[in-house]
Amino acid sequence: MLRSLQPRYGDSDLALRVRPSWVEIDLAAVRDNVRAIRQQIGPGVTLYAVCKADGYGCGAAEAAGAALDAGADAIAVGNPRGALAIRQAGIVAPMLLYACSTPDAAEEVLDLNLTVTIHDFPSLRAFSALDQEVSAFVKVDTGFGRLGFQKREWSQALLELAESGNVTLAGIYTHFFDPEDRSASEALFEVFEEACRLAEAAGFSNFQRMVASSRAIAAYPTFELSAVNPGRAVFGLLEGLWKTRLVVSPAIAAVKSRVIQVAEFTSGPGKYAAQPGAARPLRTAVIPIGHADGLPQQVGRASALIAGRRAPLLGTHLEHTVIDISDIEIVEVGDEVVLMGTQGSETIHAEELAGCYGVPLMELAIRLAASLPRLYRS
Ligand SMILES: *Cc1c(COP(=O)(O)O)cnc(C)c1O
Repeated sequence: MLRSLQPRYGDSDLALRVRPSWVEIDLAAVRDNVRAIRQQIGPGVTLYAVCKADGYGCGAAEAAGAALDAGADAIAVGNPRGALAIRQAGIVAPMLLYACSTPDAAEEVLDLNLTVTIHDFPSLRAFSALDQEVSAFVKVDTGFGRLGFQKREWSQALLELAESGNVTLAGIYTHFFDPEDRSASEALFEVFEEACRLAEAAGFSNFQRMVASSRAIAAYPTFELSAVNPGRAVFGLLEGLWKTRLVVSPAIAAVKSRVIQVAEFTSGPGKYAAQPGAARPLRTAVIPIGHADGLPQQVGRASALIAGRRAPLLGTHLEHTVIDISDIEIVEVGDEVVLMGTQGSETIHAEELAGCYGVPLMELAIRLAASLPRLYRS
């Protein structure tokens, strides 16, 4: 059974009937993945389920609800739209907003009713100047080089924060830049602990120490943390070896479409044509999904499942994709086509699809889920 929880067009059923291409989201996978993460981290660690990027394409509110159901303690988001959708769904769990704003928006950020991120002196001073209580995580940079206070600023930042009077330190977090590199990550963890010591020296206590993204949880279960913030593991988007370290399954369970035209072409001229002298014509099926929906333009070795068999993709256009069905006897307009997922006894895994296109799994899956109508399996 599939149902549309959140119409993203005026009427998503109509959009689906008129242009039948969609993704299927499996919230049971989100729940199972959260339980697997809990197993890994143990009961005493606060689990922030990261629902940024609209819940990694699965819907921020739907994903947050499922993660909390399965034992996540809190949610982290990177975008106020996700935060609003989660609050509008009636979810009152603690929520952390990653750094995303300029200092002049500090008051609006607080209105979202969440824990904010202080990542540099301008954001520190903007939140300290407000005439309201602020709950904040301080982000420290341990080498990623993207966001956060640099090591030489830590002491001053924490002292200034302690003097502010209105800011409560909910926690300190950092993001490792290369969880694959064990000795570097272990060294960075020690650097991170230095930031926590400086916070204690500034007078803070009872703040959370949060480092672990999905891969850090999988690789370093021994790091002593009081909170973790996995994203891609919640959504089953681990690749390669990482999947053996933490067993999770994809929440974006399928990408599907329906045939809108079947055609036959003898040898050229034409973009799609049989080879000169070929014994049989080229038979094609067209589906209404293209690179505007997130499919890469270069089809590479990608194929689709149709009539329970694999058929190579011939080309992807802005809103359409052409499939070679020469080897498949019966294909009719309206037949279901699976670009990712299972049909009959055949499965195209998300990782296989990403590999055929030569793009990272997370990028491809989120692009598709963000642009197509979403159906939730129940
Ligand atoms: C995205 C993000 C995470 C989660 O990372 P995953 O690799 O998806 O688990 C954790 N911490 C921060 C600061 C992030 O921006």
